[in-house]
Amino acid sequence: MARLTDPVCKKCRREGMKLYLKASRCYTPKCPIDREHPAPGMHGMRRSKLSEYGLRLREKQKLKLFYGVLEAQFRRYFQIASRSPENTGEQLLTILERRLDNIVHRLGFAPNRISARQLVTHGHVQVNGTYCNIPSRLLRPGDVVKVRNKPVSLKLVRTNLQESPPEVPDFLELIPGEQPEGRVTRLPSRSDVDPRIADIREQLIIEIATR
Ligand code: SF4
Repeated sequence: MARLTDPVCKKCRREGMKLYLKASRCYTPKCPIDREHPAPGMHGMRRSKLSEYGLRLREKQKLKLFYGVLEAQFRRYFQIASRSPENTGEQLLTILERRLDNIVHRLGFAPNRISARQLVTHGHVQVNGTYCNIPSRLLRPGDVVKVRNKPVSLKLVRTNLQESPPEVPDFLELIPGEQPEGRVTRLPSRSDVDPRIADIREQLIIEIATR
């Protein structure tokens, strides 16, 4: 299963914005972005003006990195979005929001998407009562994500929920308790997109994806 393995802070520095790829460190003064670190590489200090193409490419890279998807998967999501009669850019964002690893993170079961992905691949969650280790699975309204009834899974998730209580978006419902679970109440909309990436200009991404 392909995944991103490069140093993550470098990616934020390349994009010039916080992508929240680490856990608590992203919210502390240790974050290199807060300390005005330049882009990586020996010419990082010289940020040249981006071309029209470069501008669109950087926007696409930000979105892919934020949700932890690689190019092939991104193309697949774009194809699904472009078949919809709705706005393609908004559809693309809402498809990314429906990924299982994203939902696990937004329910507060994991402190970031990378940990959420690990939680899923290591078999700590169930979807609709069945074991599921596919982080890219797209959830639908009515689907229930539940922590597995194993001491290690419950301890991990309860600790994460205690340490950083989540701001659960409107399209999800969190039921804490002994065995925490969450339910997708409806399809997400543009306003449900994670506020930390809500400024993304999806129109630019569509322009580069349709080239
Ligand atoms: Fe590193 Fe997080 Fe800061 Fe990005 S936001 S540079 S991942 S600490």
